[in-house]
Amino acid sequence: MALSGENFLRYSRQLLMADIGESGQERLLRSRVLVVGLGGLGCPVTLYLAAAGVGQLTLCDPDKVDRTNLQRQILYREADCGSLKVDAARRELTALNPGVELIPYAREADDELLAQVASGQFDVVVDCTDNLAARHRLNRACSPAGVALVSAAAMGWEGQLLTLDFRSRAGPCLACAIPEGSDEPLMNCGNSGVVGPVLGAMGSLQAIAALRMLLGKPVSHGRLQRYDGTSGRWLDLSIRARVDCPVCAASESKN
Ligand SMILES: [Zn+2]
Repeated sequence: MALSGENFLRYSRQLLMADIGESGQERLLRSRVLVVGLGGLGCPVTLYLAAAGVGQLTLCDPDKVDRTNLQRQILYREADCGSLKVDAARRELTALNPGVELIPYAREADDELLAQVASGQFDVVVDCTDNLAARHRLNRACSPAGVALVSAAAMGWEGQLLTLDFRSRAGPCLACAIPEGSDEPLMNCGNSGVVGPVLGAMGSLQAIAALRMLLGKPVSHGRLQRYDGTSGRWLDLSIRARVDCPVCAASESKN
């Protein structure tokens, strides 16, 4: 597959990079990414991945755009209030890059979608959800299937990023750090607030990790990075594989 003249211009700043080039761009154009959650994280993630020329994006979110979203969810405009996020996102992303195939999924990440993850229909899953139960469901689907998972969260002035490259290693996984069935955090962005650009920063970092993995480049697997916007400081933690982690045990027996 040769790049068209239009695509040469569109992607020229990536083509100029020696470690992307034409073969890397073709790889991106053949890639399939699932983005779960089209909120403050999912908006920058999908904008950057569509702009970069990721060939297929599946957009998963059951919600409609609400006025309270507009402070941070940068895909949406005032006129989108009341529309499904998947529809508003599809309009905006198509306007940005009509070459990307966009598949709307206006439901939660349910069993049907997770079965698609398990059968290898996505190269990378980007977790932009806002609750722990959904994160654990994605972790449980991605780990045994060997599908990379990039997870992030933000609240107040703080954000965190967790990259799990299950393609090469089963563990550690999310459940090693936070056992399944743990209580949801008492504070979340719905009841405690969040600053929009913190979500923008975390979403951009998710997009970087996703692009690196789609290009077949190494990422730091199992590293949890925390950003504190009040001090500008980062905290780097490595998640250790837990010997009694049921998700890792199930993944190892399968691999
Ligand atoms: Zn684990």
